[in-house]
Parts: sequence; C-alpha cells; structure tokens
Amino acid sequence: MQAEGIHRTGDGEPDLGPAAPVPPPASRPHRRPVALLANSEVAPSIHVLEFGLAPDDPMEFLPGQYVTFLLERQGRPVTRSYSIFSSADRHDRFSLLVKRVPQGFASNLLCDRAPSDAAPLTVLAPLGRFVLHDPGDRSVLLVATGVGLAPFVPMLERLRRDYPATPTRLVWGNRYVEEMVARVELDRVADGWPGFHREAVISRPPSDGGWSGRVGHVQECVRALCPDLSRTDVYLCGVNAMVNDAQELALELHCPKDHVFVDRWGESEE
Ligand SMILES: Cc1cc2nc3c(=O)[nH]c(=O)nc-3n(C[C@H](O)[C@H](O)[C@H](O)COP(=O)(O)OP(=O)(O)OC[C@H]3O[C@@H](n4cnc5c(N)ncnc54)[C@H](O)[C@@H]3O)c2cc1C
Repeated sequence: MQAEGIHRTGDGEPDLGPAAPVPPPASRPHRRPVALLANSEVAPSIHVLEFGLAPDDPMEFLPGQYVTFLLERQGRPVTRSYSIFSSADRHDRFSLLVKRVPQGFASNLLCDRAPSDAAPLTVLAPLGRFVLHDPGDRSVLLVATGVGLAPFVPMLERLRRDYPATPTRLVWGNRYVEEMVARVELDRVADGWPGFHREAVISRPPSDGGWSGRVGHVQECVRALCPDLSRTDVYLCGVNAMVNDAQELALELHCPKDHVFVDRWGESEE
C-alpha cells in the first residue's frame, strides 16, 4: 500500500514535477480546485471521471503525468494520485480512469462522487516524470495491466503526432474481457497509423470461447513478440509486482537500463 503522503517515485525522490523535458511555466504544479463534470462506469468497477478546471487556471501537462488529490480522512490529510487519461491538447479539463479497490478509501470516494456534489476537490497537478522521451531511431514498447493503460492513451496520441514513423507497440493485460475499456480511444489512435500495433492479453478468458485473442500475462506476450529489446524504449505502468517483473524481463531481453521507464502505482493485495 502506498504511504499516505506525496507519492515517491522508484528512485526515492519526492515526485513534485517532471525532470525532463522541462515543462512550460504553465505546467508548474500547484494546488487547483477541480469540479467533477461527469462520472461514468465504463466497465465493472472502472469509472471515467471528467474534471473541469477553473477558467483562470488552465493546465498544460505532459502525456504520462498525473494529478494528486489532497483529501482528508478522519481529520488527517491523505493523498492519492491518478494518471491523466485524456488528451494533453485540452487544458480546461482532464479525465481519469479509476478502478474501485475493495475497501479502498480514495477510489471509492471518487467513483461514488456525483457531479452535483457540492464539496470541492483539490488536486496538486500536474506531476510526474513518467513522460515520453524522444525515441530517435528506436522503437517503443508500452506495457500496462488494467487501468495502468491510463497514461498510455495521451502518450500514444503524442507518439502518433510527433513520431508517426516510430514502430510502436502496446501490450495490455487484463484479467477479464469485460475490463477492456477505452476501445474508442485506442481505435482512434490506431486508425491510420500503420506503425502502431496493440496486443491485448486476458489472464482469465471466458469459458464459452468468447475470447480468441492471447491468453496469459503481459510478460509472456512481451517475450513472444519482442525477443530483442536492445533498440526499444520500454514504458511500464501498473502495480508494483507487474512493473518489477516486466522491468526484469526488459533487461533480460537486452533493453539498456536507461531505456526502461516505469510508473509504479503501489502494492495490490491480489
Ligand atoms: C503515479 C500514480 C498514478 C496512479 N494512477 C492511477 C490511475 O490512473 N487509476 C487508478 O485506478 N489508480 C491509480 N493509481 C493508484 C491510486 O493512487 C490508489 O493507490 C488506488 O486508487 C487505491 O487507493 P485507495 O485509497 O482506494 O485504496 P487504499 O485505501 O489505499 O487501499 C485499500 C486496500 O487496497 C489495497 N490496494 C491498494 N491499491 C490497490 C490496487 N491498485 N489493486 C488492488 N488492491 C489495492 C491496499 O493494499 C489496501 O489493503 C496511481 C498511483 C500512482 C502512484
């Protein structure tokens, strides 16, 4: 479980802003009041939450960055972070992809929230160093499980816009077919981008044969599809166990250490 304080990145540094590339001044993190505009359950226990920013406080962010909610639980401050799932081209609002965690404090508070709820929420944003690096002549591999997909949607949009010739692959794992959200967003990214390939993996396929795609875990899929990562930038996002395993695998498949970029979300009890 993550600590009840500002999240720390894997390198132990306080994660108060991206190190590189340097963001424009408008992106410097600060406290921002946000209003919930829409809340839809897009799959069992998975919600897309759209928040609006104050008109005089637009937010520029880099694809891959996140917001941290400043909450209170029994009189004590609590922070929880969520990656921005929406396009980095919009500065007046942002969306999140949030999964309810059983007995989880913040995920349930957010998923239960209605746009009509009057009490304001505050985020510290934008934050995070898990941002795109110029791939140069390397290919790009993005690996996520579950809602770890969230930061990859704006990152893919940006890769498509800025590096359309870069071979880019998304490997995305879920337990159940029903958990595969964001089809519209991924279809939009894939449309007319021949260099982009996506691979969905299901670990618990339906017994009625309703899934004809890959079965297993993302690590097996990466090993099968990308046996040599020496010329690839690898981005990993999700709970610690998956990220740690996939990071180890990337190194084993010859990806240089400084070309593996990770976003660890904390421990899961699963
Ligand atoms: C940089 C960053 C970005 C993140 N982006 C997202 C995002 O886009 N979408 C999103 O849904 N989450 C995201 N998370 C995770 C999120 O911050 C919370 O950790 C998560 O919502 C659980 O918080 P909670 O308060 O509901 O649960 P807590 O009250 O903290 O935990 C309750 C119990 O659930 C367990 N638990 C905690 N997290 C999980 C989990 N993920 N799966 C299963 N069990 C768990 C804990 O061990 C604990 O026992 C991100 C985390 C980080 C650090």
